[in-house]
Amino acid sequence: MGKVMVMLTAAAAVVACSVAGVMVRRRVKDRRKWRKVVGLLKDLEESFETPLGRLRQMVDAVAVEMQAGLVSEGGSKLKMLLTFVDDLPNGSERGTYYALHLGGSYFRIIKVHLGGQRSTLEVQDIERHSIPTSLLNSTSEVLFDFLASSLQRFIEKEGKESISSQDVKRELAFTFSFPVKQTSLSSGVLIKWTKGFAISEMAGEDIAECLQGALDRRGLDIHVAALVNDTVGALSYGHYHDPDTIAAVVFGTGSNACYLERTDAIIKCQNPRTTSGSMVVNMEWGNFWSSRLPRTLYDIELDAESLNSNDMGFEKMIGGMYLGDIVRRVILRMSQESDIFGPISSILSTPFVLRTNSVSAMHEDDTPELHEVATILKHLGVPKVPLKVRKLVVKICDVVTRRAARLAAAGISGILKKVGRDGSGGEGRRRSSDKQMRRTVVAVEGGLYSNYKMFREYMDEALREILGDDVARLVVIKAMEDGSSIGSALLLASSHSVRTVSNI
Ligand code: ADP
Ligand code: MG
Repeated sequence: MGKVMVMLTAAAAVVACSVAGVMVRRRVKDRRKWRKVVGLLKDLEESFETPLGRLRQMVDAVAVEMQAGLVSEGGSKLKMLLTFVDDLPNGSERGTYYALHLGGSYFRIIKVHLGGQRSTLEVQDIERHSIPTSLLNSTSEVLFDFLASSLQRFIEKEGKESISSQDVKRELAFTFSFPVKQTSLSSGVLIKWTKGFAISEMAGEDIAECLQGALDRRGLDIHVAALVNDTVGALSYGHYHDPDTIAAVVFGTGSNACYLERTDAIIKCQNPRTTSGSMVVNMEWGNFWSSRLPRTLYDIELDAESLNSNDMGFEKMIGGMYLGDIVRRVILRMSQESDIFGPISSILSTPFVLRTNSVSAMHEDDTPELHEVATILKHLGVPKVPLKVRKLVVKICDVVTRRAARLAAAGISGILKKVGRDGSGGEGRRRSSDKQMRRTVVAVEGGLYSNYKMFREYMDEALREILGDDVARLVVIKAMEDGSSIGSALLLASSHSVRTVSNI
């Protein structure tokens, strides 16, 4: 018996030792794996870094590229498109107007009534719908018939109170969030599609005419009287409420900006025929490029696999359409290089499966166990990851969004520099001591900005860093919802009769 006991005890000791050995080996392996992940995270942070010095170089690059784009057609990747908008709404407009807005993910229809004073602006009806994905690569006819039928339903809802019963033709502003070469306030041709739209044979087509044709085919008595870039709509809305508004930026599915420029600075336009001495310029800043942009492996891959590679480089770093996909690519790479996310998920390998609204939900998850992160990862085919891995995912969201927001701030500061409102004297014409800095309002719109608090906070922080507290205090970033749609209707109201023909 005694001998058996001794043997059993010895066997138990051997088992215990080997279990302990296995555990130690596993712990060492885990630690090594985690060290690798920490290394990957460090590389990620470094490659996405946007220190103040780099942001300042970007500000300069934006201002320089703006200038180059104003001097000649094709002078810069910034197209700096003329809009033929010189007078912005000021609150005195009257009448009833409609706007149809084709955005990157949504289309909206609105009806506004203006009583001649700011306080009398009445948004009488507003509809917002997702754009069916089947439209993105359909035909021009399908797209515009879809828009016309949506407008028809909107009008039919008005019933007896409709304008047509008063025998007045409806006037519509078409807010269009894609690059257009305007030929007048009411006409312009598509330069190219962006944001995942790929309807062939439309470049060079007059967008307002396409919509008018579809409305006419349905027998709708509506006149497409203005074709307005969404940023220009946002600027109009901002200016209507606050005349210090000189620029507008959209952070939605894509990103773009416009601003008010002196006509004598628009060298490529010989005879702009404006009465105010200035014109709104649509920068199409999504296409901005500079060697100072922190381009990473993930950006290169995303671009190479996109429908429009070598195009819209800035938009691909800051646009809501892309942030989710950058985060997805980082998680995928980490899961390929270590097994902390478990077996590689095929869902995670699908482009655009992670949307930016999920990125903000994970980033802003304030539950102690990061439940939201766990749920979203589960949907991505990555179930049951430990808390420290969920924290790592939050960190990845932070790194990607922080870069986007800081680059956005550099873009805005570049505009301020170009127009001499950044405190440095802009264009070398004035020193800040020569002229007192004026209050400057930048209208901002879009789902990324309005729904993602961390994006807003990082952008504000970077603006203060770049501009310094004294100047930043005078720069007001004013958020507005549906400003681009409403603003287009306001613009139509204010410059209703303006028909300026292109002369470049
Ligand atoms: P559009 O670009 O069609 O004009 P929006 O301005 O509403 O539409 O922007 C929609 C985009 O905003 C979405 O494609 C998405 O990228 C981003 N977005 C929407 N909701 C959120 C959110 N909760 N967090 C972060 N980004 C969001
Ligand atoms: Mg939009």
